[in-house]
Amino acid sequence: MKIKHLIFILPAIGVIVLSIVLLKSKVCKKAPVAKVSIKKPSIVNSVSKSVTMLPLGNRITNKLMRETYSNIKVILPNITLAKAVQMPALAYYPPRKRYRADSLIHWMSRIAKPGEVLVGITSQDISATAHGHEDFGIMGLGYRPGNACISSAYRLKGHNENFWKVVIHELGHTVGLIHCPIKTCFMRAAEGKNTTGEEKEFCNKCKQHLIKNGWKL
Ligand SMILES: [Zn+2]
Ligand SMILES: [Zn+2]
Repeated sequence: MKIKHLIFILPAIGVIVLSIVLLKSKVCKKAPVAKVSIKKPSIVNSVSKSVTMLPLGNRITNKLMRETYSNIKVILPNITLAKAVQMPALAYYPPRKRYRADSLIHWMSRIAKPGEVLVGITSQDISATAHGHEDFGIMGLGYRPGNACISSAYRLKGHNENFWKVVIHELGHTVGLIHCPIKTCFMRAAEGKNTTGEEKEFCNKCKQHLIKNGWKL
């Protein structure tokens, strides 16, 4: 299928999937959680790229930065940890006092150096237009494929031990992985829930794709 076609079809699929979830479980009043990817037509050579983890905002703790960085470095040895920077004001969404993830990854994709992938991490709330909602609270968003992704620990409500799984999921999108039907795979779609507790590893299919892209799995 051509990229152009996917751009139009994917949002439609998102609306249908969310409608089914809401009808079945009536979770629309609970805090919505999702891991989302945006189709971006640019291709990044993921074997030769450098990866930089960029902490955003002043609420993320040193402990969470360090732990997340160490967990990701095991499988992506070429990753480096940058100094934390302020959230860019352009991404602020006043009605909900949170930050637009789509604006954040667009901003990061513009400040990334050639051949670099920027992996944003934050403890502040992020949102995007997703699942039929104008402003939907999410855990992460990444280009697929592309040079930027963002993950937020806000919706883990203090259970930060699984935050690295959100980060690895969004990083997987940046090297082209789509959502995976295997429930224990890191690339599983969240579909309105926090599924990180059930995610154990990349399934074989996702793993093979990542190994081809230089990941040490
Ligand atoms: Zn995703
Ligand atoms: Zn998988």
